[in-house]
Amino acid sequence: MLLNLHSHLEGSVRPSTAGQLAETLGIPPPPQGWKTAMTMASPANLTVFLQHVSSVYPLLGTRDALRRVAREAVEDAHADGQDYVEIRFGPGTHVRPDLTLSHVLNAVDEGIREGAAHTGMPAGLIVCMLRHHSPDINAAVAQAACSLAGSAVVALDLAGDERLFPDLEPFAPMFAAANAAGLGITVHAGEAAPGRAVQDAVQLFGTRRIGHGSRLADDPALLTWARQEQVCIEVCLSSNILTGAANSLRDHPITAFLNSGCRVVLGDDDPITTGMRASDELGLLRSQLNLTAAHLQQISDTSIDVAFCTPQTKAELRERLNTSPACSPNVVRHAAWKRESACRTTRYWTS
Ligand SMILES: [Zn+2]
Repeated sequence: MLLNLHSHLEGSVRPSTAGQLAETLGIPPPPQGWKTAMTMASPANLTVFLQHVSSVYPLLGTRDALRRVAREAVEDAHADGQDYVEIRFGPGTHVRPDLTLSHVLNAVDEGIREGAAHTGMPAGLIVCMLRHHSPDINAAVAQAACSLAGSAVVALDLAGDERLFPDLEPFAPMFAAANAAGLGITVHAGEAAPGRAVQDAVQLFGTRRIGHGSRLADDPALLTWARQEQVCIEVCLSSNILTGAANSLRDHPITAFLNSGCRVVLGDDDPITTGMRASDELGLLRSQLNLTAAHLQQISDTSIDVAFCTPQTKAELRERLNTSPACSPNVVRHAAWKRESACRTTRYWTS
């Protein structure tokens, strides 16, 4: 049983697909090739991390490209042995003179639904507002997301460079609209800014799901508050090391979160950027952090509880959890995928 609740579309583009899209568009490859441009070799900060993620942006300027990468992202998640995935992206980035916000969002929505239909694995789409975009663009993104509630779109998020754009208050009306439309809410917070940003996001927007939240562990009082408020942290281990949100795997705050009784779920954030898929992140939990069976069970239980999916999908996932090990990829699919995968099973921080 493996649920991947934090995964970005732009960091999931297959390098082979990037090469084909570039060739079609007449865009020359980066000097070291697409895979090197997309994958981050060593830890730095969130700004550098996002530069790697954005290397594929010029390739995503058509409806066909967006639909294709969305479908492939679901297919790759399924092949990785995942049972459910929520893929997120920032549509405002991909708008062009001949590609409206509606075109962008509908293309990705279709791709996610195609991937889910093709694999038989449920998948949801989370729409991200971006901190560096104007209030007008973010308001339009939120409105477009609300209009697709009930399709693949399941939630609204806020992403982007928290270090450069920490202000949260301008986003309150957008999250209120999402809530009214029946969408879930999750917010990237406490990743590059102090842990207090998590408290601000919960109090301002009413969300209970927080992307990363790593800095929360710097303050024991905030950890106690997060447990009492049942805040759920979407943990992405390898991403946190590459962005500097955690100094090392051993120092990663997931242990503090679990020991404090905080709710935790897993994501792979940007699997091509990190070179690590959700099953690899699980491998780190098992082999490097020695989490107990109770912790793994708790992560799977929480993942089903907080997933932005229908009650029917939750019931099916719970039934599957009763017959398969917690926090474990589908072994058959996973083994086949590993022979083909562009990602690695170990990175230097695991040694
Ligand atoms: Zn993220």
